[in-house]
Amino acid sequence: MASETGKEVVTRFAPSPTGFLHIGGARTALFNWLYARHHGGKALLRIEDTDRKRSTQEAIDKIIEGLDWLGLDFDEAPVFQSDRAARHAEVANQLLEAGHAYKCFATPEELEEMRAEQRANKQPMRYDRRWRDRDESEAPAGAPYVIRLKVPTEGETVIEDEVQGKVTVKNAEIDDYVLLRADGTPTYMLAVVVDDHDMGVTHIIRGDDHLNNAFRQLPVIRAMNEIEGGWPDPVYAHVPLIHGSDGAKLSKRHGAVGVEAYRDEEGVLPEALFNYLLRLGWGHGDREEVTREEAIELFDLDGVGKSPSRFDIKKLQNLNGHYIREADDARLAALVAEKLGPDADEALLTEAMPVLKTRARSINELADGAAFLFQKRPLEMTEKAAGLLDDEARDRLSGLSKVLAEENSWTIEALEATTKSYAEQLELGLGKLAQPMRAALTGTTTSPGIFDVLVLLGKDESLARIDAQASPAGKE
Ligand code: GLU
Repeated sequence: MASETGKEVVTRFAPSPTGFLHIGGARTALFNWLYARHHGGKALLRIEDTDRKRSTQEAIDKIIEGLDWLGLDFDEAPVFQSDRAARHAEVANQLLEAGHAYKCFATPEELEEMRAEQRANKQPMRYDRRWRDRDESEAPAGAPYVIRLKVPTEGETVIEDEVQGKVTVKNAEIDDYVLLRADGTPTYMLAVVVDDHDMGVTHIIRGDDHLNNAFRQLPVIRAMNEIEGGWPDPVYAHVPLIHGSDGAKLSKRHGAVGVEAYRDEEGVLPEALFNYLLRLGWGHGDREEVTREEAIELFDLDGVGKSPSRFDIKKLQNLNGHYIREADDARLAALVAEKLGPDADEALLTEAMPVLKTRARSINELADGAAFLFQKRPLEMTEKAAGLLDDEARDRLSGLSKVLAEENSWTIEALEATTKSYAEQLELGLGKLAQPMRAALTGTTTSPGIFDVLVLLGKDESLARIDAQASPAGKE
């Protein structure tokens, strides 16, 4: 699995499958994918499923489905961290043998006591390295132990992060954390490092909530490099997290945080979310609309901002509107039909799409705008629409019905001319006639242009809907 070429860029997205694909995770995946594509390297996927209780197959499927929907493909089959426990343990033992790790026999009670003392003395809560220099023979025979990393206590560790810049931490502040538990299972911190090495990962691009971890992971990398070589420091890029509009870290409290919710509930197109997530934390001048191909061409880490970005649903909706207008009508019709249910006719929706999509900012809005096409008579009226249909309006509709019944050319131009001349005859502005028409034809007060509506419904259905609201007296 290790990268043989040495120079090739290899990135990875390493989600913990504990629910769904979080919008922040999707952005991390996107940045990794774009970086690899931009540099002609490889993008890999690793499922960090070591927390067996919380990692479900359903969550794994949802993550892969979300990535797929966004068009993020990976160059190798996903690696499952849980499959690799033996390899993780092997590295822990190598570190132990080489003196970069040690056995710690402290009992849970002992450690609890240590923590209580630290708490009482207002000291940082950290393992006090009590077994670092003790000999194994001091422990009771057969006592369980964990393997801890022997972190250098002198000096400091510096990371030249591609996003955060130079970050320095004193080694004394890094704890001798556990690599292998008493039952022989590896900890997450060890697993990540071993997997990244074995997968040949050269660039670690992830949320800046992992920056502290990098300082704990590097000592393992450096120790292994000393032991066997071939463990170079990876390039790190820790990307600031996404915040909600109030400046706090994005969470459920701010609304939808899962990619699937944007697809299913918000009616967002994948290319819109792709573009939005890209712009959330990365910029190229003041460009807002960036296609997938342009993104691959332009993306690099120097365009990633240092401060957290704020999730702005309005911007996402505006971008979505842009991509809806660009999208193929039949594709949109299929998406709208899914929302509207079995009554929706895709062919009619495709025909209607050019007028429906001019203003819509989501598939939901498209579906709302299209719903009138499939209503059954008698139409259900919104309160506002019903309010427009007073006696006077009903009289006008019955007159209009007669005029339109004579209309043989059912086109926008002809219908507009006929309706206008009828309005003139009544000495009315066109709007005064169009409003009750809209109410009768769609059951609402907002719709595409009224002549579009007539054409889309066709002559028979249009007249039937108008007649259903026209005053019976006026028809005689
Ligand atoms: N599994 C971690 C997470 O989902 C990411 C680990 C990493 O990128 O190093 O937050």
